[in-house]
Amino acid sequence: MVKRAQDWIEVRPEGLYVRAGGFFVDPLRPVAKAVITHGHSDHARGGHAEVIATPETLAIMGLRLGEAAGGTRRPLPLGQRVRIGEVEVWLAPAGHVLGSAQVVLEYAGMRVVVSGDYKRASDPTCQAFEVVVCDVFVTEATFGLPVFRHPPAMAEIDRLLRSVRIFPERCHLIGAYSLGKAQRVIALLRAAGWERPIHLHGALQAMCALYGQYGVALGPLCPATLGSRETRSDLAGEIVIAPPGAIADRWARRLPDPVICLASGWMRVKQRARQRGVELPLVISDHADWDELLRTLDDVRAPEVWVTHGREEALVHAATQKGIRAQALALLGYEEEEG
Ligand SMILES: [Zn+2]
Ligand SMILES: [Zn+2]
Repeated sequence: MVKRAQDWIEVRPEGLYVRAGGFFVDPLRPVAKAVITHGHSDHARGGHAEVIATPETLAIMGLRLGEAAGGTRRPLPLGQRVRIGEVEVWLAPAGHVLGSAQVVLEYAGMRVVVSGDYKRASDPTCQAFEVVVCDVFVTEATFGLPVFRHPPAMAEIDRLLRSVRIFPERCHLIGAYSLGKAQRVIALLRAAGWERPIHLHGALQAMCALYGQYGVALGPLCPATLGSRETRSDLAGEIVIAPPGAIADRWARRLPDPVICLASGWMRVKQRARQRGVELPLVISDHADWDELLRTLDDVRAPEVWVTHGREEALVHAATQKGIRAQALALLGYEEEEG
């Protein structure tokens, strides 16, 4: 008799294994069958024989991994049910990045939701998080400390645009993770009325084009390519977006007196901003903050919660105080994301 989720879901060295279905969710190593929540590289690794994910996530994996994306790719649109082994599986939107999904697992009268990464704040570039009431909720805890409270993203964009107005002779260079954050920043700028072309570092162009193919309107974008030794004085007063790793590059120094910005939930920690040479930190995150994590535990009404991926201890403690059976799920190998 199956009484507990632990009887059919377990942690193996490869990752979270759904034994009753014979598949892994976001495995860390190549496996026979993987269900993938979203395209970030610590979740969507290459080399699996069979990959099940939303069509958007499969496209993102194809773009990032090429041939290594996996053998058989089975698209599973949001809300559509499929039976894998003895388990009913469907995907619900997670509100994290384009195509991101929570994996809903139903077996033996029990429902387990593996949320992957998620956020509750609105994001014009992906479908909003859907609350799925369940028996066991597996949650991330990237920002699982009370100090992490993200301000409204639009307020951060307003600060950015104020700086652009104050320094018309300077270029604003925003570091933003290539999948999700960059496109969200662009969409927010458009919503705030910034109509001028936005200039992109080469590493962001293909992903922005893919978002466009999936109907996410980003407005006029153009490449911020810099020939060797060339200075782009024409970029004064303009906005340039680059991966976080590029904002301290030699490349960046050829922009006209750039104001270095970084869009990340980690920018809440002033020391981190200072360490990375960020003049204008923008606290914009694609992960739930502390309040969103707690609100989500209330919303999904799960009597049991497994916490992974970040600062498990504080969230386990807070959940326990709510009367929830909570435990840290020791899933090794997840890296800290750009947040
Ligand atoms: Zn992610
Ligand atoms: Zn993650």
